[in-house]
Amino acid sequence: MRTLLLNGRIDGGDATDIVLADGLIADILPAGTATAVAEHAGETIDLGGQLVLAGFVDGHSHADKSLWGEPWVRRHSVDITMDQMFDDTLQQWALPQAPVKERARRFLEKSVAAGSTTIRAYADVAPQIGLDGLHAMLELRDELAPLADIQVVAFPQLGILRNPGTVDLLEQSLIAGADAVGGLDPAGVDHDALRVLDIVFGLADRYGVMADFHAHEDGELGVWLVDRIAERTRALGMSGRVSMCDVFALASPTPAQFARLAGTFAESGIAFSIGVHGLLPVPDVKGLHEAGVAMCLGSDSSRSLWSPWGDGDILSRAMMMAYKSYWRTDEDLELAAAFAGPLGRRAVGLEPVGVEVGAPADLVVVPGEAVAEAVVLPPTRSLVIKRGVVVARDGALI
Ligand SMILES: [Zn+2]
Repeated sequence: MRTLLLNGRIDGGDATDIVLADGLIADILPAGTATAVAEHAGETIDLGGQLVLAGFVDGHSHADKSLWGEPWVRRHSVDITMDQMFDDTLQQWALPQAPVKERARRFLEKSVAAGSTTIRAYADVAPQIGLDGLHAMLELRDELAPLADIQVVAFPQLGILRNPGTVDLLEQSLIAGADAVGGLDPAGVDHDALRVLDIVFGLADRYGVMADFHAHEDGELGVWLVDRIAERTRALGMSGRVSMCDVFALASPTPAQFARLAGTFAESGIAFSIGVHGLLPVPDVKGLHEAGVAMCLGSDSSRSLWSPWGDGDILSRAMMMAYKSYWRTDEDLELAAAFAGPLGRRAVGLEPVGVEVGAPADLVVVPGEAVAEAVVLPPTRSLVIKRGVVVARDGALI
């Protein structure tokens, strides 16, 4: 099936006609010249000069924890500690609420309507909740496949060693088909980083899946932990298949720590999702990009009991990253948009392709004159296209 997009401006460039066929971008022609292929087109859509961007990548989505669509819950916890986070998580699991599959579906569908066509979603795994969330996320991965490519990470939200029974559940998650095995603060939470890395990398190696680590360890401990993760990544030949998020060591490193971290991430092929926290500075994304580090953006925890913030909109994340970094030039704001799309793809193990012939026809259409303008003030997404099919229009799923 072919779709013809007329008069769209790819990344803010000249007006073009874009031919989509068999889920790919089949051709890109100067505007007004695509009539020659019009007879092949199944559907023709005039974009009226709007911007055409590559589909967004959400590399860090806690859709299973989102209370999106549920009655508003008043939040009282003040402490910003892992113990408080564990308390809030346990309390949230006990809340009267819609089943995890229903809540996660709402949030994932909202994320797609905002332009995410590739999503790495974490599924909490713990003896306290068993594998209900993991199975729900695996079912959604299949059911929502026409809307987005979803990778499911089996995630030990309450730690591994401190929460006995978790290792077995992680292994069962991989047997059930999870795409990656996760870890949480191997040093800071479980207090035995080497043993945790043995467990997580052991499972990743045995089941041939990716490994992913949340790492709130900062300072020298954080740098040490990244070194240990890099050692195992190299030893197992897992370059490009290991990722991290919430890398607090990158928030306020010394120049020497930054140089070490950037070099280690780049050389060992560990990608990470850029943390855009209210609490912390954004990492030096431009410096890391220049060093060759693969990075994406992520919606993170969105409207959980822990935090009311977040809405699954990756273009808004790009805006917040740029705002906190005080990026002002068009070139910098275009870089922020690229992390939402083509550059972000590399961080989740995909080819870093944009809107180009032969690339997947995963596209986002937005009104506006310039990409920088769309980053500064993210507009409602006019169209979201997945594998050549329009899946959302004017901010709502079709
Ligand atoms: Zn997270």
